[in-house]
Amino acid sequence: TDHPKYLVTGGAGFIGSHLVDALLARGEPVVALDDLSTGRLQNLAGARTHGHFQFVHGSVLDGPLVDKLVGECDRVVHLAAAVGVKLIIEQPLRSFTINTKGTETVMEAAYRHGRPVILASTSEIYGKNSSGPLNEMSDRILGSPSVPRWSYSTAKAVDEILAELYRREYGLRSTIVRFFNTVGPRQSPAYGMVIPRFARQAVRGEPLTVHGTGRQSRCFLHVSDVVAALVSLIDRPEAEGETFNIGSDEEISILDLAARTVTCAKSASPVERVSYNEAYGPGFEDMDRRVPDTTKLRALTGWQPRRNLDDILA
Ligand code: NAD
Repeated sequence: TDHPKYLVTGGAGFIGSHLVDALLARGEPVVALDDLSTGRLQNLAGARTHGHFQFVHGSVLDGPLVDKLVGECDRVVHLAAAVGVKLIIEQPLRSFTINTKGTETVMEAAYRHGRPVILASTSEIYGKNSSGPLNEMSDRILGSPSVPRWSYSTAKAVDEILAELYRREYGLRSTIVRFFNTVGPRQSPAYGMVIPRFARQAVRGEPLTVHGTGRQSRCFLHVSDVVAALVSLIDRPEAEGETFNIGSDEEISILDLAARTVTCAKSASPVERVSYNEAYGPGFEDMDRRVPDTTKLRALTGWQPRRNLDDILA
């Protein structure tokens, strides 16, 4: 076909599997590389019925494999990473290694084969910066020597720096996307993300456990809108060498979110507060706000979210 072929690393994961489905629906051939550490083959059940789809069980740490797959594809979207608050707190250095070496391996292959690559970063890049809305210039990890909060965010910061070096020194065609809170089907409940947890608690009639005061706020974007944003950037040369926030700007406090979830589920669950100390152990702090400024993405691509928070909860 004259369609470009995509390599999606982390393609069996939450965001990755939705991206795979969206690319296949556009008629693009897709190869998904995943070690199934947190991803699941079940997420690719639909994709695997597709003639233009190939699943490769392997690691982004496997240099020769990555080099071969990148060479066989036209474009790369690198989403594979060790993720989830629990995992990255319990195994910080292992996560760091996967998230830096894996990305370096993918970039090295992309540069060698001259392939454009989209790299997944995170709103965690902005550290504890709570003044919002956050635009792409607000980061405190790359912009100043302030200490980032987790090995996870440090690894993503290293990835961003590496991407910039590969771009400057070798002309790597890379685009960085910083995902803010994303929700939707296939998100593993194991990560302890707040909406899947609240939804489960509400449906079971268990108390909804709000961590901290509940006055902290977040913005949630449906995974289909995340994928639409990715697709809008994917074949756009103007996006190369640039960084984009991908997130919702519909802000809600966690206490209000708990109440909305209870209403939406027609549940009788009470709402309870749990200290950060009880939930995560000593020393854990969370930021008060995390609101993306998505002006840059919207200006370049015309992207707009299609689903609001009520759609997501429903
Ligand atoms: P996910 O865990 O569902 O997806 C990650 C995938 O990578 C999994 O399928 C996992 O099996 C795979 N993987 C892990 N290590 C691998 C390795 N060494 N080799 C091959 N595959 C490997 O999580 P997700 O939410 O879909 O995250 C996708 C990307 O988006 C990650 O890079 C993550 O850091 C980033 N991100 C996600 C969010 C969010 O809200 N979901 C927010 C910010 C950033």
